[in-house]
Amino acid sequence: MLSLYIHTPFCAKVCHYCDFSVLSAPERLFEEYLILLEKEIEIMLRRYPEFIDNTKTIYWGGGTPSILKIEQQNKVFQALEQQGISLFSLLEFSMEFNPESCFQDRVENAMHHGVNRFSLGLQTFQENLLLRIGRSHDVQTAKTALEKLISLKSEGISVSGDLMFNLPGQTTEDFLSDVRFLADQDVDHISFYGLNVAPLTVLGKRIERGSEKIDDIVYEPMYLGGVEILTNANFERYEVSNFAKPNKQSLHNQNYWRGGSYLGFGPGAHSFVGSKRFNAPEKYAPWRQWVLEGCPESKLNVDLIGKEERLTEKIWLSLRTSDGLDLKALEEESVRIPEEVIQRWESKEMLACVDDHLHLQGRGWIFMDSIIEDFLIHNIPS
Ligand code: SF4
Repeated sequence: MLSLYIHTPFCAKVCHYCDFSVLSAPERLFEEYLILLEKEIEIMLRRYPEFIDNTKTIYWGGGTPSILKIEQQNKVFQALEQQGISLFSLLEFSMEFNPESCFQDRVENAMHHGVNRFSLGLQTFQENLLLRIGRSHDVQTAKTALEKLISLKSEGISVSGDLMFNLPGQTTEDFLSDVRFLADQDVDHISFYGLNVAPLTVLGKRIERGSEKIDDIVYEPMYLGGVEILTNANFERYEVSNFAKPNKQSLHNQNYWRGGSYLGFGPGAHSFVGSKRFNAPEKYAPWRQWVLEGCPESKLNVDLIGKEERLTEKIWLSLRTSDGLDLKALEEESVRIPEEVIQRWESKEMLACVDDHLHLQGRGWIFMDSIIEDFLIHNIPS
């Protein structure tokens, strides 16, 4: 399947834990960004024309795409349509919204241009934690935004909410009550992610100075407790951090995990086409320069994915999903994971083999990285 990704690198302010390619920029920069984005979309779709007729999903993320006003949003929709992308023929068109910019007119305008799935960055429903991680919204704004999006479900809209756990000062009960609250709303999809502290962020520096602390001991009860609540509420875990009501899985993300091709636009956006992986310059200024030069491929880091990398990715990506790792398919590529390695994890009830597919189990979802590394130290022939 083919997919497109659009990255809007602007946020109302940069959250204390954020190390994405984002900036809190004056609005005049938005206009320049939109001109450059349009140019990039045109150049890249001419270079990879197979995406014009065959794209099935688009994900517009960031940053905060909802920071853009209607007229600014429309420039992105028009840029895609001008290149022949039929927005209403897509299987899924997702757009990220943040609560503080989840305005009715912006939501409706996106829907009128084919967006049929909204992903809302909630993170937590605890006021003190929102402040501590530097989010731009408060709890009431988050609840109002959620209610607004859920009310559109009767018009065929799918709604997803994002939560975070292992935040500084967050107790297990704080997180589980967030999960319970969100599961009780009529959302189709929930993602939750454990905080990964990057050293150069505000939070990373505070932790280094000792003025903030993350208690890793709560990671496991938070994750497993959250999974239990969602499972009981009829959400299926289809990837380590993603849970969906029946038939509400994100098609776009599944395309990533199943090794499908995608083309990204905007600073730092990643692409995977054929056996080539590349990404646009991450910072705004070098990205701007790169687009002005005509998006030369010679200025990108292009990784050619050989057999070894492809199989390594296949193991990483499939084990993290409920599809599991297809051992027969691996064998057809002359790769065999030794029986004793599989048994080591099966005996700990972290792995199970069903119909020649390996699936993570119980605490195995938390020890996923160690399990995969254990598989990978057994040489994959190139
Ligand atoms: S809203 Fe998201 S992308 Fe923007 S600063 Fe916060 S974490 Fe980063």
